[in-house]
Order: sequence, then C-alpha cells, then structure tokens
Amino acid sequence: MLTICHVRGDRRGEWREITIDQAIGLGEQMKCPRCEGRVTPFKRSRNGARAHFEHVEGHTGCPHSRSLKGPYSGHPSRHPDPVEW
Ligand SMILES: [Zn+2]
Repeated sequence: MLTICHVRGDRRGEWREITIDQAIGLGEQMKCPRCEGRVTPFKRSRNGARAHFEHVEGHTGCPHSRSLKGPYSGHPSRHPDPVEW
C-alpha cells in the first residue's frame, strides 16, 4: 500500500516526499514516487483499511497501482500522463 508521495518543493524541479498523514487535507498536487502518476490520499476507512494513496488513473507499469486495466505488468514504466513540476 502506498503511504508516501511527492509534492512540489521550494525550488523549481525539486520534489519533496510527504507521508499520508501529512497529505490528508493538503490541497497540493501529489504524484507517485515510482511512476509519477497523479495520486490522491484516502483516509483510514471504517472497515479498517489504513490511510493510503491511490492512483487517480491506474497504470499497469506501477507496482503501487491497482488498476482496472489489469494487474501490475511486472515491468516498471512511467505513467502515460505524469505530473510535471
Ligand atoms: Zn505509481
């Protein structure tokens, strides 16, 4: 389960790592540290699932993405629509 993500840092081109606890309620754009696809934070759910990030648009080239397009392909690749700085 993905519990960290990257947000834009102070300097152009710089990314900062934040945890899921820091991300809840933060209005910034967040990306997956692995495939650079956009992710969004989910709070801990009532059924006990821990707080975590999910990809907005799934990507089979990322082990952290659970995609309707299919399971992880086993070959990491950049997201087709990555978050740019
Ligand atoms: Zn990813």
